[in-house]
Amino acid sequence: MLAAWADSPMKAPGPLLGGVELGGTKCVCLVGTGPEDILARTSLPTGADPAVTLERIAAVLRDWNRDHGPIAALGICSFGPLDLIRTSATYGCITSTPKPGWGRVDVVGPLSRACAVPVGFDTDVNGAALAEGRWGAAIGCGSYAYVTVGTGIGVGLVVGGRPVQGFSHPELGHIRIVRRAGDSWKGACSFHGDCVEGLASGVAIERRTGRRAADLKPDDPVWELVAHALGQLLHTLVLATAPQRILLGGGVMNGQAHLFERLRRELQQSLNHYIDAPEVGAQIAACVRPPGLGDLAGPLGALAVAADALTTG
Ligand code: ADP
Ligand code: ZN
Repeated sequence: MLAAWADSPMKAPGPLLGGVELGGTKCVCLVGTGPEDILARTSLPTGADPAVTLERIAAVLRDWNRDHGPIAALGICSFGPLDLIRTSATYGCITSTPKPGWGRVDVVGPLSRACAVPVGFDTDVNGAALAEGRWGAAIGCGSYAYVTVGTGIGVGLVVGGRPVQGFSHPELGHIRIVRRAGDSWKGACSFHGDCVEGLASGVAIERRTGRRAADLKPDDPVWELVAHALGQLLHTLVLATAPQRILLGGGVMNGQAHLFERLRRELQQSLNHYIDAPEVGAQIAACVRPPGLGDLAGPLGALAVAADALTTG
């Protein structure tokens, strides 16, 4: 992409940032100063051997540091759950993931040795949320959520400008919900059965129907069940944090645009007029919507996290 600032002598580029989005199936690496100024981007498979995958990513970062650098800060966003507590002995590690081989793997250590700069580390969904707040559909919002509905379901929840963090990051994809009347399928979550992820993730849809989610037509009855479960998640998000935006991405939402209208309806029915606000009333389509950055929300999240590492040290 051409640098947007190149035409303007008034606007200098920001610092050069490296970003790594570690996904369950692939890792996206990029280097640049922001969405309009990506100098290089590459994608690698997330292999079964974490050491090999992380060394391949580190090699990419070392090459970019030499060819485009110096890189001023690095951002790493990963599938989780993660240890994000800086004082913890296992800070920078993936913790209890069901992905074989990747449990208790140190992600930050090997990658930060590739370039000795400030390193930010966050979940993939927190990163995507931060990128949307900086460059996408949540600019100007202090409190909002980024929900991904893909292989699993994750929520990046920003309140007061920062991702929510307690003893760990929230895991709202696993909340328990009110089931749709007449539906007693046991669900696909290996921890909880019929939590939201267990009912509405790509894996859950495929297990329930026995078919590829991408092959299911919009009039398939499973989508009503998926919209209901997601509507319940949104109900909790609205009541817990009154988000100004709820952005929904991931393979399932990207591939099934009809779900947006259905889950807005499910949310409104579930709230039953209890919340009197345009965000869940007349303006719901502008507030419960796809991400502004599309597929780039995740990778750009790593750049947003890198930029924050530079300011927070
Ligand atoms: P990940 O969650 O692994 O990062 P994605 O966000 O791309 O990856 O989500 C992958 C999931 O999206 C898979 O479970 C797949 O079945 C589902 N998916 C992909 N395309 C479609 C589609 N057109 N309609 C519904 N689901 C889809
Ligand atoms: Zn669960």
